[in-house]
Formats: sequence, C-alpha cells, structure tokens
Amino acid sequence: MEATWKSRKVAIVGAGAVGSTFAYALAQRGLADEISLIDANHDLAEGQVLDLAHGLPYYPSVQIKTGSKADYADANIIVITAGAKQNPGETRLNLLQRNAAIIKSIMDDIVQANSQAIVVIATNPVDVNTRIALNHSGFPKNRVIGSGTVLDSARFRYLISQYCKVDVANVHAYILGEHGDSEVAAWSMTNVAGVPVDEYAQAHGSGNWAEERERIVHDVRNSAYHIITYKGATYYAIGMALVRIVGAILRDEQSVLTISTLLEGEYGIQDVCLGIPCVVGQGGALKIVQAPLNDEERIALTSSAEALKSAFDLLQKG
Ligand code: NAD
Repeated sequence: MEATWKSRKVAIVGAGAVGSTFAYALAQRGLADEISLIDANHDLAEGQVLDLAHGLPYYPSVQIKTGSKADYADANIIVITAGAKQNPGETRLNLLQRNAAIIKSIMDDIVQANSQAIVVIATNPVDVNTRIALNHSGFPKNRVIGSGTVLDSARFRYLISQYCKVDVANVHAYILGEHGDSEVAAWSMTNVAGVPVDEYAQAHGSGNWAEERERIVHDVRNSAYHIITYKGATYYAIGMALVRIVGAILRDEQSVLTISTLLEGEYGIQDVCLGIPCVVGQGGALKIVQAPLNDEERIALTSSAEALKSAFDLLQKG
C-alpha cells in the first residue's frame, strides 16, 4: 500500500550519532525524497549533511540538506533524536529532566509551524518523552509516537534466532512496556515459524532452554548499557529501527510494531505511553493490538506502566 504523499519529506532533529546514522540508513533505503537534518549545533548538522551528501551518486535519488525549524511546516514525518545521551551507568530515567525541556521546546516550534507531520520520538527516556510531547503539543495521539520497544524487540528476536539457529525473519517476538529497565518479554506471544518458542528451542537449540530464556531477557534489557560501556553510544540498530517505523508510515504499511503510544484502557492501563504492538501506517499509530498475555506478563506490564507513570508525575511536580 503506497501512501498518497507526492514528495516524502523527513525532518530529523538531532544530527548526533542516532540522527545521522538514521539519515544514512534512510537514504540508502530510498524511502524518502528529502531528508532534512537539524541540530542546535549547526556546524555539526552541516558537516553530517556534507558527508552524507557526498554519497549521493550511490544512493537512490534523495535530497539531503541542513534544515531549520522552517522544515517542520511541510515535513511528512519529524523524527526527534535531539538531546543529551546516557552516560555510562546512567539509567534512562536519569536523563528525564535534561531531555524533557528539549522535547518541549522542539514541540513548541513544531506546533508554531502548523505542522501536520507524524512526530516520532527517539530521545530517551523515550516513553516519558513521548507522553510529554503528546501533552505539550495537544496533537491527537496517533500523531505522536515513540520508538518504544521496536529496538528491544529486534534484539530479542536476534538472540532467540541465534540460540535456535534459525533466520531472524522467522522469529516473531515482542518486548513490551518501558524501553528500559522494567521492560517485559512477552514469551506467550513468541513463536518460531508458528511453533511456540519453548517447543522450537527445546527441539532445535542446544543447552538448557530455561537458563537460556533468563539469559536472553537479561541480555536484551542490558544491551544498551553494555554497548555504551564498550563504545559510548548505540546508534546502528536504533537507526534501523527508526527506518522500520518511518518506512511503515511513509508506505502506509499497516505494520504491527511495538512503538510507544498512549494507552487509554487497553491492557487495563490508562494515560501512559509505552511499547505495545500497534498497527502503524500513514496516520501514525492506528490501532493497538490486544494480545492475550498470561498473568505474569500482564502484572509485569502493569508495573512497567506504573514506573513510567511515576517518572512522568515526578516531572510534572518538579
Ligand atoms: P548525540 O549527543 O550524539 O546527539 C544528540 C544531538 O542533539 C547533539 O548533536 C545535540 O547538539 C543535539 N541537540 C540537543 N538539543 C537540541 C535541540 N534543542 N535542538 C536540536 N538539536 C539538539 O546523542 P545520540 O547518541 O545521537 O543520542 C540521541 C538520543 O537518542 C539520546 O537521548 C539517546 O539516549 C537516545 N537513544 C534512543 C534509543 C532508543 O531506542 N529510543 C537508542 C539509542 C539512543
């Protein structure tokens, strides 16, 4: 299903590691006609654009340019990666105060430009920032989404595929809740080529599956901390996750992705943005998928929502 937009313009706010990697991956996929890179550090945006644009002979046709807030007016999608990044050992929630102010000021500019774009937030803590952006802008909930647990679900699928020695494309698996410490592995929804994961792993994997399950969840949850300790930031996989989300919007794919979106009673959760399977298309977040979680998963998801709600409430008070 192709969307009806004549020209597909994506504005990226934040030209740091995540924003520039996303721009690079997006350009190579030929999904956008115009990519505009905006950063408070104008020289950085300028340098990234030159470096990216010099590859133009080898990309599918696309315009890559340094942008400004004027680009919000006609962008189809605005992806926000601007902000401070996690320091080694720092939890995502610690970043809250620093990044909330940045998100609010960018949303003010987007509203002022009378933008009709779908806004995709990647800045951490992503779920709380999505809620802040939604509240602050007054936009309808379908138009403000977060990258949620799309990246975490990719990490989860990868680790299961490695253990089962099977193509990751055949692994259907979702991480739900906070993109962070309280996230929930939805094992009851997980299958390999339609076979429940426990059956598949025991038949085809080697080792103790019960222990491996624990290890996989631990590794997914701690991936960012490990990568940040090794190399200071994570950006390749989140770049690809953003391409997946933005591609689903640009091509009106109706793909089910665990983006962060506002729950209004689904899964018994109210007024919290978190990663949940949701149909994504040209209108952004179109429909939350209600999956039959087991009791343990439902309880864990509720407590993840509570952790996010407390962080949001704390910020409102501060
Ligand atoms: P970075 O420091 O390399 O880049 C951030 C950029 O934002 C900087 O260039 C800075 O100048 C710019 N910036 C700051 N305030 C701005 C403003 N008001 N307007 C425009 N630009 C502004 O950081 P990074 O490694 O690219 O990470 C960016 C964000 O993405 C962080 O919050 C990080 O935690 C988050 N992240 C999210 C995920 C995810 O899964 N959602 C994964 C990785 C990183």
